Amino acid sequence: MLDSARTLIREAGASLGLSKSIIEQIISPERVIEFSLPLKRDDGTVEMITAYRSQHSSLRGPYKGGIRFHPNVSREEVIALSTLMSIKCAVASIPLGGGKGGVVIDPKKLSPRELEQLTRLYGRALTPFIGESKDIPAPDVNTNSQIMKWLLEEYELIQGKKEPAAFTGKAIKDGGSLGREEATGYGGVIALEELLKHTKPNKHSPITIAIQGFGNVGYYFAEAAARNGHRVVAVSDSRGGIYSEKDLLDIRRLAEGKRKNGTFGEYGAHITNEELLTLPVDVLVPAALEGVITAVNMESIQAKIIVEMANGPITEEARQYLSKKGTIIIPDVLANAGGVMVSYLEWVQGKQGYWWSYEEVMQKLQTLMETAFVDVWDRAQKGHEDMKTAAFKGALERIASQISG
Ligand code: NAD
Repeated sequence: MLDSARTLIREAGASLGLSKSIIEQIISPERVIEFSLPLKRDDGTVEMITAYRSQHSSLRGPYKGGIRFHPNVSREEVIALSTLMSIKCAVASIPLGGGKGGVVIDPKKLSPRELEQLTRLYGRALTPFIGESKDIPAPDVNTNSQIMKWLLEEYELIQGKKEPAAFTGKAIKDGGSLGREEATGYGGVIALEELLKHTKPNKHSPITIAIQGFGNVGYYFAEAAARNGHRVVAVSDSRGGIYSEKDLLDIRRLAEGKRKNGTFGEYGAHITNEELLTLPVDVLVPAALEGVITAVNMESIQAKIIVEMANGPITEEARQYLSKKGTIIIPDVLANAGGVMVSYLEWVQGKQGYWWSYEEVMQKLQTLMETAFVDVWDRAQKGHEDMKTAAFKGALERIASQISG
């Protein structure tokens, strides 16, 4: 992941005419901090747990990025993810840079007390390096608003002041933003609508959509797309999917069934995740995992539009093949940027001590996403290049413009 992010940056930078030294300056993380946290287990033993915070770029503003708790967290992974956050924030044109943190732990193997203690230890260790004007962490894999609350409590205790804008992804009662939960999925649909405005003059004929992944991102994407009158004909989760060529899938009913029984029920034909990717639909939305569209299945992909809602769902080889074939790919750094856009809005609200209504947040998300989309689209059209290349080039130009000398 780190290699492919760096390759894209080097290629985009070179074609912009940026010097090698500027490109290397943009690629290198400004600071990577490694912590050893002494976790006291319930049996009384003390285990040293490794944790990181990568602060990639502050050229455009404070670092911004999630914190994940996962056994596979590594130094390389947090650097790669923080690099992509710098690009994503620049694509979104928000005044923030890239950061990412991680704790090398499987939280499912911790008792509730151990999880809280480990989180608080990490919060204390992070405190000198973060803050609303320095670095603003958020939830990511296996972390949530409760974890943010514990981290913020430790931070505020040491700082001796209230500073809700030091973290985002908080619960509403703790200074979170309305609309954050649905922001990523809804943002993806805003980007898709913009694309359809530009590519499909007869926008009243419904399009068919298949969505891999029915978690936070996949569900809200499906719900908003169906509300806009599109035909969501297939969805899937880790157990497999459901496809209904003729009848519309009832997204809320599917979600309810999944919540109650853990399955999609009998509302359509059961299909595998691999089959979902190759369905004859207009739009394919990978919203679960990275690396699902590869050299192995790229020739079977029939959709003319792919919205990358997961991070990195298409390998570089497959991306180049599909782009040459004429498939339009809305790249992850744009398609799923609705999440960081509303995190940005949460930060602004926390800093000003004034919280907006749901409608105001959604209106601002709409404006941010439409602006970012048009920017990438226009650049892609002018340069006769795919949207990922255009997005990286636009982001690099914005970042490089902050380097003096
Ligand atoms: P989630 O955990 O809420 O949902 C993940 C979904 O993927 C679940 O429905 C799960 O069943 C499904 N899934 C897991 N393994 C699968 C498999 N092998 N095949 C098919 N489906 C599988 O996660 P999420 O928050 O919806 O995130 C989904 C993706 O979007 C991730 O790649 C994440 O990094 C990315 N993303 C999320 C956000 C956000 O705000 N949540 C922001 C940017 C990017």
